[in-house]
Amino acid sequence: MDTSACIEQVFHAPDVYLVQVPFENISTSATNCYVIMDGGEALVVDTGAPSDEGAKVLSDALDELGVDRGRAKWFLTHFHLDHAGLIDRVVPEGAPLFVGGVELGEARVTRTGVFLDALTRTYRQQGVALSDATTAARLGVEQPLFDPQRLRTAFVRGGDTVTVGRYELQVVETPGHTPGHLSLFEPQSRILFGGDHALFVISPSIALFPREGDGLQAYLDSIKRVQDLHISQLFHSHGPIRPDFEQRLDWLAQHHLKRLDEVCGIVARNPRLSGYQIIRAIRWNVPFDDWEDIPIMQRYIMLTQGIVYLKHLVADGSIKAKTYGDGIQLYESVR
Ligand SMILES: [Zn+2]
Repeated sequence: MDTSACIEQVFHAPDVYLVQVPFENISTSATNCYVIMDGGEALVVDTGAPSDEGAKVLSDALDELGVDRGRAKWFLTHFHLDHAGLIDRVVPEGAPLFVGGVELGEARVTRTGVFLDALTRTYRQQGVALSDATTAARLGVEQPLFDPQRLRTAFVRGGDTVTVGRYELQVVETPGHTPGHLSLFEPQSRILFGGDHALFVISPSIALFPREGDGLQAYLDSIKRVQDLHISQLFHSHGPIRPDFEQRLDWLAQHHLKRLDEVCGIVARNPRLSGYQIIRAIRWNVPFDDWEDIPIMQRYIMLTQGIVYLKHLVADGSIKAKTYGDGIQLYESVR
């Protein structure tokens, strides 16, 4: 494979190179990793999914850019497999890695048996059949992606900075897609490395926050936080870079508000449905007529997103949930 085909300079001052690390799933074929370079220093934002091909593409690209992998700084926007999955393969021992403390804490929580049981209960409470609830909960349990002890891992939060040459990038908290999702903002050029916070290829999924919390509200607040930065360019993690990111941020917020209206309408017209029944009544944008035909991974995402909407509507007082003797919650409008 010709590595130079995977590298593209996408910004000057600071110099930013996009490396597309191959990765196959339903909506995308690569993770956009970014290499920010200045004054002989380099900062790599995200890695890619764990595969031999991906490891080779990223390693060769860094060699071609003249990046010393041991001296470079590494930053992870979040801990999904297609972002953190190559850390152990391409980052040498002792290299400086910047990650969100919240993200790491939540990832640790989601690997415990207690969490698996709690997640299974969450799906069961919505009326999901036991077999589907168990499968969905297993899909929601994160696998360990890398060993933070092997590296010089620094935990960062909103307002912290990561320097590369003359540039000081600011950490911006953008939770929603994951509970501890981070972005990086360079204030002179006003460019933002936004990870999976805002994508064009899909509407990013929103996490069912493992501990109590309203993931959708966190996501909507993150959109506002990014809008308030008045960025000049968004460098996101999947799909081509586009100039119309402001419209996309608006669209994403509107998309979720419309979905909330839809869910409220379903609950108003059909009092005392379970979460599962409500979620199945949402007009999802999937090419299947029957729920049973939808692949399990996609069904898991839809179930999770549906619960995220229901949790938000309960939290903001639009609907209420009442638990019945069988442990299943049924929803009603609040008038
Ligand atoms: Zn992600």
